[in-house]
Amino acid sequence: MLLLPGSLLTPGLGCGGGGVTASPEPHCSCDPRQPKAAAAAAAPAMGNMPSAVKHCLSYQHLLREHLGVGDPVAGALEPAQVTQLSGFPEYVKIVEVGPRDGLQNEKVIVPTDIKIEFINQLSKTGLSVIEVTSFVSSKWVPQMADQTEVMKGIYQYPGVRYPVLTLQGFHHAIAAGATEVSVFGAASESFSKKNINCSIEESMERFEAVVKSARHMNVPVRGYVSCALGCPYEGQIAPEKVAEVSKQLYSMGCYEISLGDTIGVGTPGSMKRMLESVMKEIPISALAVHCHDTYGQALANILTALQMGINVVDSAVSGLGGCPYAKGASGNVATEDLIYMLNGIGLNTGVNLYKVMEAGNFICRAINKTTNSKVAQASFGV
Ligand SMILES: [Zn+2]
Repeated sequence: MLLLPGSLLTPGLGCGGGGVTASPEPHCSCDPRQPKAAAAAAAPAMGNMPSAVKHCLSYQHLLREHLGVGDPVAGALEPAQVTQLSGFPEYVKIVEVGPRDGLQNEKVIVPTDIKIEFINQLSKTGLSVIEVTSFVSSKWVPQMADQTEVMKGIYQYPGVRYPVLTLQGFHHAIAAGATEVSVFGAASESFSKKNINCSIEESMERFEAVVKSARHMNVPVRGYVSCALGCPYEGQIAPEKVAEVSKQLYSMGCYEISLGDTIGVGTPGSMKRMLESVMKEIPISALAVHCHDTYGQALANILTALQMGINVVDSAVSGLGGCPYAKGASGNVATEDLIYMLNGIGLNTGVNLYKVMEAGNFICRAINKTTNSKVAQASFGV
């Protein structure tokens, strides 16, 4: 495992508090050999680096040295200077779902002020969409009971959208300041009944009411289709069923359909077969993928989707969340790992990986969790 010198790390950069040694020295001591002129020349390029690592001007140099590779690695940590590989979309929009999907599936209930600070930090990373909370009954989702306080407490940065998950709580969400909402459907009949307490058909009727209200108020609605690659109760889900549910959501007015591998059982093969079916019904520009990493397939599945032309990907900082159907399993794909891969391919995301890592570190410390991001683990020696 790559271990950076402890002097590169601020106290507590490692999630869960383990494996990190803070330097007692206030100045950078990691590479005394580096000439001052070279350090000064590197400084402008590090302007976007968070304070956690900014003090060390030879950080990138060390990363390259320790990883034993040249610019391609730096290109994976920073937006690529390399030519983009062919066969991919030029730009990938990342939809950050950590504050909602992630924290909703963590065991601990995160204090409201921590959530607000977390979201405000994410807003400064370059992310253009951050799903912040959900307006559903706190009886079902106690982790999101402070939805109004969170919505009112965050600073809504210009150019960033802050959708919230909702159903019956649509008007509450709007009253709290939401300007975009999401609805959560399923491609599996059993999952729909257990998760949202109604059949797929009934759920569509409820969604239609939300979309209708939203349309009156010019509020965009995003649609989730969960269990797109498998269901904890039914096992495999037919690609045609996913296509059918997706088409219904798209036809009623959802501007984007996020296809979720909710339990993380998909593979590039099942992803390809599912997308081929859905793409017959819906324009590719209206599709997103949402992958969980339960079986370690998330990045491979996302890569497959990108190669098929999808350019919207959901992810959660530090891989927040879990899988209630597979004890101890990983949650959402980590935003850090996704950006690292996209940077390496040469795809533009507009998101600063260092700042995302810092936000990930903040929330992991707050909930005393070890990050699930491989990139954060490698960078910070967790
Ligand atoms: Zn998820």
